[in-house]
Amino acid sequence: MIFPNELEQLVGVTRGIVDSVVAPRAAEVDEHCTWPAASMAAFAQAGLLGLQVPTALGGHGQGLLALAAVSAEIGRECPSSSLCFGMHCVGTAVIAAKATAYQQERYLRPIAAGRHITTLALSEAGTGAHFYLPETQLDLAGDGADAVYTVTGTKQFVTNGGHADSYVVSTVASGGNPDGGDFSCLVVDRDTPGMAWQGDWAGFGMRGNSSRTLALDGVPVPAANLLGVEGDQVWYAFEVVAPYFLLAIAGTYLGIAQAALEVAGTHLRNRRYAHSGTALRDIETMQTRYAKMWIAYRKTRALVFEAAARGDAGDPEALPFILASKADAGETAIALASDAMTIFGGTAYRDNSRVAQMLRDARASHVMSPTTDLLNIWAGRALLGLPLL
Ligand SMILES: Cc1cc2nc3c(=O)[nH]c(=O)nc-3n(C[C@H](O)[C@H](O)[C@H](O)COP(=O)(O)OP(=O)(O)OC[C@H]3O[C@@H](n4cnc5c(N)ncnc54)[C@H](O)[C@@H]3O)c2cc1C
Repeated sequence: MIFPNELEQLVGVTRGIVDSVVAPRAAEVDEHCTWPAASMAAFAQAGLLGLQVPTALGGHGQGLLALAAVSAEIGRECPSSSLCFGMHCVGTAVIAAKATAYQQERYLRPIAAGRHITTLALSEAGTGAHFYLPETQLDLAGDGADAVYTVTGTKQFVTNGGHADSYVVSTVASGGNPDGGDFSCLVVDRDTPGMAWQGDWAGFGMRGNSSRTLALDGVPVPAANLLGVEGDQVWYAFEVVAPYFLLAIAGTYLGIAQAALEVAGTHLRNRRYAHSGTALRDIETMQTRYAKMWIAYRKTRALVFEAAARGDAGDPEALPFILASKADAGETAIALASDAMTIFGGTAYRDNSRVAQMLRDARASHVMSPTTDLLNIWAGRALLGLPLL
């Protein structure tokens, strides 16, 4: 796909940052589970944190295609950085969807100016992959200008946990009827009394994403921080969170797939046997394996960018494309990282190499909700004219 000029420029800016800042630190991020502060600072300085902020507020006013394309550039070198950036962008899109004048000034302008990182805190242990069913309780105290919400519950897997300036939190009204959709989203500022972080992230992959557990114990949140109106959370979950999250993650996994293809190609050319002088690329089995990797990558790339473009255009047929894009990108990233491991042989396995990291990072795609299994169900239901849930 040929990107519009403005997006091509944004991708070029991203590539420059990835080459100079992100890639040199990627191994350290993975080895030590380091949150990628330098990457995020460079994105902030370049104005990329405002990718999803409307232009009237100083941002780029971009949509799903830009998020997928930029995420792919970052994910190609450092999937943890891409996940941190992506979750910030999803949080931004959620805030921007129905932002009040106060929320525009309090959150969106600082985000565009590179002074504010946000992120998404939806998942809970009780409901797991069913991220649209929060059990965190919301109470309202006082009324009018003095009204304050209190939030009580525990969020798990909060990417950028402990590093973001604000958290987009989903809740259910105390005594409300979850089946009736009494869910609401709020922005909770960092270090608000009653917030406590539990444990550090030391995951199998995506090791720099600082995906941590956040306990909220009667956390006071100004009524002005409610997103939309009470009960809007399900709208946010499926109209904003799902498309932005799916394309951010699809882009990240597309980046891993591209990286696997590239390192495999380099290795096939360079690996020579002492006994015969032939390169791995001279072996027919390797030629066909590499061709299949390339085909899989190109098909996934076409699907991801078509899904994003259809979403941005408001195409009524976009839904199955968007749902399938993350499921397919995850499968392709896992398959290509696994193929690259085969092509590299035992050395890549022994050394916990970059290829091993790709495989570990790629494996998160299956279990990040909407998970691959849920997406395949939902895509099938959408294609067959059934409601998703
Ligand atoms: C690296 C990483 C980063 C994350 N970042 C964030 C974040 O920033 N914010 C956030 O809110 N969450 C985040 N998550 C959480 C994630 O999106 C999931 O919600 C969470 O991993 C679900 O965990 P669980 O172990 O409770 O899964 P479970 O709910 O126990 O699911 C286990 C398996 O059962 C399957 N399953 C469950 N129900 C069905 C069904 N009806 N049909 C078919 N299959 C089903 C699931 O697909 C899954 O494979 C992150 C997770 C990871 C791994």
